[in-house]
Amino acid sequence: MASEESMDYVVVGCGAAGSVVANRLSAKPGTRVMVLEAGGPATDPNIADIGGFVRLWGSALDWKFSTEAQPGLGGRQITFNQGKVVGGGTTINAMMWVRGNRRNFDCWTALGADGWTYEAAVAEYKKMEDFEGGASEYHGVGGPISVRVCPDAAMRSEEFLAGATELGYDGPHWDYNGARQENGAGLLHFHIGKDGKRCSAAVAYLDPIRGRPNLTLKTGAEVTRLLIDAKRAVGVEYQLDGKRHQVRVEREVIVSAGALQSPKLLMLSGIGPVEQLNKHNIPLVVDLPGVGRNLQDHVQVPFVFRTATLRPNPQLLTGNILFVNTRTSTPDAPPDMQLLFTPAVPTPLMSALNFGGPACIFLAILIQPESVGTVTLRSSDPLDPPIVNPNYLYARADVETFLETLKLVRRIATTKAFKELNRGELAPGSVDPEAFIRAQASTLWHPAGTCRMGHDQNSVVDPRLRVHGVEALRVIDGSVMPKVTSGNTVAACYMIGARGADMILGG
Ligand SMILES: Cc1cc2nc3c(=O)[nH]c(=O)nc-3n(C[C@H](O)[C@H](O)[C@H](O)COP(=O)(O)OP(=O)(O)OC[C@H]3O[C@@H](n4cnc5c(N)ncnc54)[C@H](O)[C@@H]3O)c2cc1C
Repeated sequence: MASEESMDYVVVGCGAAGSVVANRLSAKPGTRVMVLEAGGPATDPNIADIGGFVRLWGSALDWKFSTEAQPGLGGRQITFNQGKVVGGGTTINAMMWVRGNRRNFDCWTALGADGWTYEAAVAEYKKMEDFEGGASEYHGVGGPISVRVCPDAAMRSEEFLAGATELGYDGPHWDYNGARQENGAGLLHFHIGKDGKRCSAAVAYLDPIRGRPNLTLKTGAEVTRLLIDAKRAVGVEYQLDGKRHQVRVEREVIVSAGALQSPKLLMLSGIGPVEQLNKHNIPLVVDLPGVGRNLQDHVQVPFVFRTATLRPNPQLLTGNILFVNTRTSTPDAPPDMQLLFTPAVPTPLMSALNFGGPACIFLAILIQPESVGTVTLRSSDPLDPPIVNPNYLYARADVETFLETLKLVRRIATTKAFKELNRGELAPGSVDPEAFIRAQASTLWHPAGTCRMGHDQNSVVDPRLRVHGVEALRVIDGSVMPKVTSGNTVAACYMIGARGADMILGG
């Protein structure tokens, strides 16, 4: 063992949730907090550049996971990028800011997440935001996360917004992060600073507290195992510079390694489905069958149209938005479709997307998937990637959602407001729509739900995010969501981090 240290708290991973936790726990002088992050510092110049993040995908700042072959996608394996860097996903993501739908949180509480109400979520969102549109019943100012309304002028599309409004949706400048998320067309919000640079978890929560003497942040430190003694977490083991280290905790270990790796770490430490642990000869601490189950992810499919004239290429990937519920049989369910619109091919994607002339893209995002998957161990070697099997488009209902969305896209494309832009459908065009959807569908990189909270036997943490059956151990990240939110997940992960930290501190 190269070193053994002692802390009050150890936080594993500093992505969206872990960074907030580290910030709040170390706010009290004298409380010793260590953050162990497997990735490196957030220093690459592409991070700050709002169009640069695409260049980070596949780089050393990315875990570069891959799914198992997906039968619902014609047997394709999907690259599953995940941030391996200070700030985690917030350092390499597309910066879209979507808080989720009121009904998502109704669903969480119905599934046993007591107290995780919409009202509690909004209160937390208001505290963390610095919204450029000003303070209101739904928005906050003065918080650490700068939220801006589509700051890329080339991205804004009055054709899409007016077209959707012509069909009867509210708009054309609907605030989907306000009183009602669905059935209004508006501009997308982004976590981008007033300086035009990415406002990541590193920028918002870690950079301002670098000088705290009670906070230790180690990068390149991959946690390989939780140390558990008599069903109590007493520390963690990690690798740094090729050497094995241990750190002991006086109070708690907080696992914030993200929805693909938090369950992996629990299983490596003997917490998980007994048959998984037996298979890999890992001594059992607690049989928790839900660890790694309930994997949910958002799925994207692009529908493309030829446009009339060459417009400036935007830097952001998309910027105009409409949430709808395509399932007429469940009108009270949260929206299942997030329809995004991009009026010209974004500059960061120009080398990847060649439509032989000007084109615009409707990006359809399945946001309430019925297909649910798993994260399991590949081996007992902590450095092996997990087996990720999301079962994309396994449920028929998910394909139907895309087919209904294509009908909506075609209706918007033929509105009066949109007519000038539409010079014909390029994709799917004459290709069979279902075949196209299965051939094109891919991840939106929003894994959630693999250590879900609740009280039933498949839940992993209780509503205070404490792991069932193990003392002094919490999971605080996107994995605890009982059901993935309707829309990009980062805001909810920050909210989980903030509320989780308050719970540790006794709030
Ligand atoms: C390419 C991409 C684009 C995205 N676009 C958007 C978007 O536009 N809007 C949006 O809302 N969401 C987006 N997301 C999703 C969003 O970033 C995530 O929901 C969010 O970051 C998840 O937060 P988290 O705290 O659960 O985990 P993460 O942010 O993933 O943080 C987990 C951290 O733990 C570290 N870690 C993992 N295992 C270990 C270990 N064993 N030891 C030490 N450290 C470890 C990781 O390196 C990482 O830094 C995107 C994600 C990606 C990858």
